[in-house]
Amino acid sequence: MSTEKKFASQADLAEKKVSFDKLSDHAYAFTAEGDPNTGIIVGDNAVLVADTQATPVMAQEVIRRIRQVTDKPIRYVVLTHYHAVRVLGASAYSAEHIIASEDTRDLIVERGEADMKSEIERFPRLFQAVESVPGLTWPTLTFRGEMTLWLGTLEVKLMQLGRGHTKGDTVVWLPSERIMLSGDLVEYGATPYAGDAYFEDWPKTLDAIAALEPRKLVPGRGAALMTPEQVREGLAQTRAFISDLYAAVKRDAAAGRDLRSVYQRAYSELKPRYGSWVIYDHCMPFDVSRAYDQATRYPDPRIWTAQRDKEMWEQLEG
Ligand SMILES: [Zn+2]
Repeated sequence: MSTEKKFASQADLAEKKVSFDKLSDHAYAFTAEGDPNTGIIVGDNAVLVADTQATPVMAQEVIRRIRQVTDKPIRYVVLTHYHAVRVLGASAYSAEHIIASEDTRDLIVERGEADMKSEIERFPRLFQAVESVPGLTWPTLTFRGEMTLWLGTLEVKLMQLGRGHTKGDTVVWLPSERIMLSGDLVEYGATPYAGDAYFEDWPKTLDAIAALEPRKLVPGRGAALMTPEQVREGLAQTRAFISDLYAAVKRDAAAGRDLRSVYQRAYSELKPRYGSWVIYDHCMPFDVSRAYDQATRYPDPRIWTAQRDKEMWEQLEG
């Protein structure tokens, strides 16, 4: 463990290569080597975008790619959850509706402002042209549990299958094609961020995703999963990381170790298997902090502020 590890992703400044993959006539994935993904659904009469990129300027590249495959209006923006790096580009799409679960809206009310400031400092490269962000992104439509959109004849389900990455996690599901946009509930070759997670629930939510037997899936980060085998692999990888991390932290917290020691041991223990995934060094301090909280005395994630971020980093990495 080095003492000169830069805070979060502040040292991560190299541009990533964008891929725009076609999953079906109705679904596309905008991915960029482990940066936050955007999923696109094209119906008969409208386009739906799930997760927006971090700023309106960053979102322009998504819109440019969409316009290469369709000229239908972008009518819906879906927020899979509240994290700034995925939602603050929403204004670029000029959508009629911005849709989120009520749980996600509650989190925006409670911690959106703090999260925005915290995430902007964590990811300087992703918040390119941060001055183009007009403020928090507010849903215009909210739902509990499940809702269905009809894009002409194309049925699109928005579903809360359980808590995991956050309290408000929503997946986008095309029943006719068994294609899913999972948000950060599933990652592929990228370290799951679990700073706002529910560790006990997350594996059950992955079970609920698996039970739908998706044929293809756009994860929150990493390449689009283009076969059922790849989807199973993505689910298994995510589950293994979450379970291994929580087991290690729970064990050491129960043994009375302090957070710094729990962190150092979990970091080393998980590094051989997961250390090559993108943002491993960024995520681990946040993930272990939250796991330690949940294993001890905080059933719900505490709010991260820019200041709490830095204090935690100093405590664990300083
Ligand atoms: Zn997230």
